[in-house]
Amino acid sequence: MTDEKGKIRVRFAPSPTGFLHVGSARTALFNWLFAKAKEGSFILRIEDTDKKRSNKKYLKEILESLKWLGLDWDGAPVYQSKRQHIYNRYKKRLMNEGKAYTIKGGAVAFKISKDRITIDDLIHGPIEFDNSLLEDLVIIKSDGTPTYNFACVVDDIEMGITHVIRGDDHIANTPKQFELYRALECSPPRFAHVPLILGEDRSRLSKRHGATSIAEYKEAGYLPYGIVNYLALLGWSPGNNREIIKREELKKIFSLDRVGKTSAVFDQNKLGWACGQHIKDTDIDELVRLIKPYMKKSRLLKKGLSKKDLQNIIRLFRTRIRRLPEFCDQSDYFFVSKIKYDKAAVKKFLRRKELKVIFSMLIKDLDRVRPFRTDKIEHCCRSLIERLGIGGGDLIHPVRVAITGRSVSPGLFDVMHLLGKKTTIRRLRFALKKYCK
Ligand code: GLU
Repeated sequence: MTDEKGKIRVRFAPSPTGFLHVGSARTALFNWLFAKAKEGSFILRIEDTDKKRSNKKYLKEILESLKWLGLDWDGAPVYQSKRQHIYNRYKKRLMNEGKAYTIKGGAVAFKISKDRITIDDLIHGPIEFDNSLLEDLVIIKSDGTPTYNFACVVDDIEMGITHVIRGDDHIANTPKQFELYRALECSPPRFAHVPLILGEDRSRLSKRHGATSIAEYKEAGYLPYGIVNYLALLGWSPGNNREIIKREELKKIFSLDRVGKTSAVFDQNKLGWACGQHIKDTDIDELVRLIKPYMKKSRLLKKGLSKKDLQNIIRLFRTRIRRLPEFCDQSDYFFVSKIKYDKAAVKKFLRRKELKVIFSMLIKDLDRVRPFRTDKIEHCCRSLIERLGIGGGDLIHPVRVAITGRSVSPGLFDVMHLLGKKTTIRRLRFALKKYCK
């Protein structure tokens, strides 16, 4: 079951015929985590023998997505398209031993022995197969290239794979592969078939359910650590109700015996939540580095913005976002001189005559606040509220709209502090003149 060093060796074997799907990414992750937990090797094998369906664009994207998720593989990727000589050698051997024969068009078929066999799956337990129901297996197509089942077994033998962790949809292939191991007099690896991922309507996860490729999540600004966390818990559990686990810990505690036998349901909302939790926990310097490119794209990155101010602004929003670009959507009023006012918010909170007095007094009081710090600002606002005998919301909501243009923001006094006295007062004056009537 193990190679000469007694080590676990697993592989992820994508076919470059489409983008890396969340289901495949989870298969890759389970292999990777298993290898890490057992201090084994994780090998990447590109199953690109189908020339018509394989595409460089998909290959590139699969490699990029794996790297982005941090699922680094050992050694160089193995390309099946470069291993034709090896498949030929195995084919010859089977033919010489009378275990395979030529069929129509020069293709080659392998004789399946018609037994009943049992495969002890690490997730499903023993699975019985009646191989008398199987037809002989085509192992070489008429164009000379190997079929999936043949190339897969040859490579798993050649690469010393100890555990095959893959999707449930390959269970039906397993008895055929098992027969090939027998014919080649090699002991098969252990198999672990991971249940499929379903959409919320319990049908197989597909485009209909929303974004399904890792590239789309990357593009949308989700954090890779959050995705890894969420995917790890899709079908596996650490045995308690923990939902936020860092990669370093996952690497230590992952085990196949805690992978469930039933399909897991993909919940995009929960994935977003997990990513938000990781944003909250990300080191502030790292978060600044991750958010800056999005600010640049939204033209929010202006000269003269100090590192400290940017850090503080990001700190205000880090608990409120699930994707990195949401920071830009929510915080733009910190970075532009002319803010956009939300019409509904203006109508609901600013179009009121009595605000003339409240804002005028507030402007005067705020002007005297020194230093212009959150606690002092709060004290100033609260004492005005008291003096006027109004409710807190009567001042806070209109002020929020006046200085941010919106009805929702982080804590108002923090926002005022980070905007600074000048900008806060300027915006209050502007709103007073333009809207408070
Ligand atoms: N290329 C196959 C797939 O993407 C690999 C299956 C396996 O791991 O054996 O489904």
